[in-house]
Amino acid sequence: MITLPPFLDMRDERFADLVHPMGQLEQIATGFTWTEGPVWIGDHGCLLFSDIPSQRVMRWSARDGVSVFREGSQFNNGNTRDPQGRLVGCRHGARDVVRTEIDGSLTVLANSYEGKRLNSPNDVVVSSDGAVWFTDPTYGILSNFEGFRAEREQSANHVFRLDPVSGELRAVVSDFVQPNGLVFSPDETRLYIAESGSSHDDSVPPVIRQFDVDGARLIDRGVFATLDCGLPDGMRVDTQGNLWSSAGDGVHCFTPDGTLLGKILVPETVANLCFGGADGHRLFITATTSVYCTYVDTKGAEPWTRSRLG
Ligand code: MG
Repeated sequence: MITLPPFLDMRDERFADLVHPMGQLEQIATGFTWTEGPVWIGDHGCLLFSDIPSQRVMRWSARDGVSVFREGSQFNNGNTRDPQGRLVGCRHGARDVVRTEIDGSLTVLANSYEGKRLNSPNDVVVSSDGAVWFTDPTYGILSNFEGFRAEREQSANHVFRLDPVSGELRAVVSDFVQPNGLVFSPDETRLYIAESGSSHDDSVPPVIRQFDVDGARLIDRGVFATLDCGLPDGMRVDTQGNLWSSAGDGVHCFTPDGTLLGKILVPETVANLCFGGADGHRLFITATTSVYCTYVDTKGAEPWTRSRLG
């Protein structure tokens, strides 16, 4: 049986094929307050990530290290890219989902539903047809730590889909306590959504739910996995369909049928992660005050994480 370094907690031998016995967990950036929203920009060879309370989006590259990408980010949280490569982010402060155009200008994609302000969009994915799917929990309006304290105007904490043709915003799921990270399976037939309601209510199970994607609708297929430590926040899927979820003790890796293969143990609470690096074989992990990185033997399912341009 293969021996893995102590930070890799193997629960199934298939995990050994996804990681490296020589791998290390590197801390590549630290000194932040609450890191989130990592996204790999392969064409520029850099990682962007949010430090939510300081209202900054940061940039890291192997060549240049850490720099500020954007000040005054309106408590920007989750980030992704659309099929055109444009950055799409969730802003707690402005309570919107915003797209950064190629010229650097910002376009607000969504900030209200049924005439009322969104809560505080948290995380976002864009399907290959250009539809923008995002979660809208209340974390950004509960206090002034990662947003501006305010009363909720929405009747529920919805998951939304913004139609790429009509521009219609529609609630596709409304029974989460706090919907958080979300990610598609590689073929986009399934959407996984994290329930992080246990952050403020112990009675809410820390589950990842799964939904079949039927055009613009979601069909509830129940619980995909229940975390055994902490709660699920950001998630990513690799090219084989394995799901990598943030958790209290690190990153948990599940097969497409929900079997826990193993964990990457991280010394700080993990909020999110993404694949990237010059050949797509690195996993970047935003964890409280730091960003960590390790080499893995798989790649992210999103096409830009496999770019060799970086
Ligand atoms: Mg989140």
